[in-house]
Amino acid sequence: MIAVIFGPPGSGKGTQAAALCERFGMTHVSTGDMLREAVRNQTELGKEAQSVMSAGKLVSNELVCGIVKDKVSALVAAGKGILFDGFPRNLDQAKFLSDTLDELNAPIDAAPVLEIPHEELVKRICGRRLCSNADCDGAYNVYFMPSKEEGKCDKCGSDLVQRKDDNEETLRERLEVYDGQTMPILEYYGEKNILIRVAASGSVNDIRDSLILGIAEKVKD
Ligand code: AMP
Repeated sequence: MIAVIFGPPGSGKGTQAAALCERFGMTHVSTGDMLREAVRNQTELGKEAQSVMSAGKLVSNELVCGIVKDKVSALVAAGKGILFDGFPRNLDQAKFLSDTLDELNAPIDAAPVLEIPHEELVKRICGRRLCSNADCDGAYNVYFMPSKEEGKCDKCGSDLVQRKDDNEETLRERLEVYDGQTMPILEYYGEKNILIRVAASGSVNDIRDSLILGIAEKVKD
């Protein structure tokens, strides 16, 4: 299965992506995670992307499409399913992805989108804290899901950190980018009849179940 998940920053996309990968046996391909790793390792790519990411703007298509292409070819060749998260972010990336997957004879099966009012996103994003240990997936929110000890991960005890772009000013910029550049892709996927709209204001488990149901029905079509 090849799928693409959409949702504004703070919609719970990362959490749901992990659940969907487990359920459908897909590999999670998150361009945000790949770019953050490049920034952490201070590779050439990371140095180039750093300031753009901190400002909440989009890294160039050339750079992102390059890293995606290498990864996708390898995964498809190995017969793996893929869940794209954070890619595509604009219509040019969407067309690039369709062309790349067509060449590999592996079309997109489903494109779920998490829908949530923008007002709900500020607390979710500005309260978000992540474990600083790269091998741990601990994720918390100071308003909704605080760690037992402030500033420490419940799972491994490492310090919790805030992502550099998780502040209100950058969030507003990221939402503008999402509305302006990413939303048009939804129309594009709607025309391809692979779009699945899911309300993302409820509990994590309910949202996960709606996603699984929606994808299973789409794949059955
Ligand atoms: P994310 O974790 O998906 O919210 O991505 C964090 C940041 O990485 C974004 O705000 C962009 O600066 C950059 N980024 C991630 N994916 C892409 C993409 N597909 N195209 C351009 N920039 C991206």
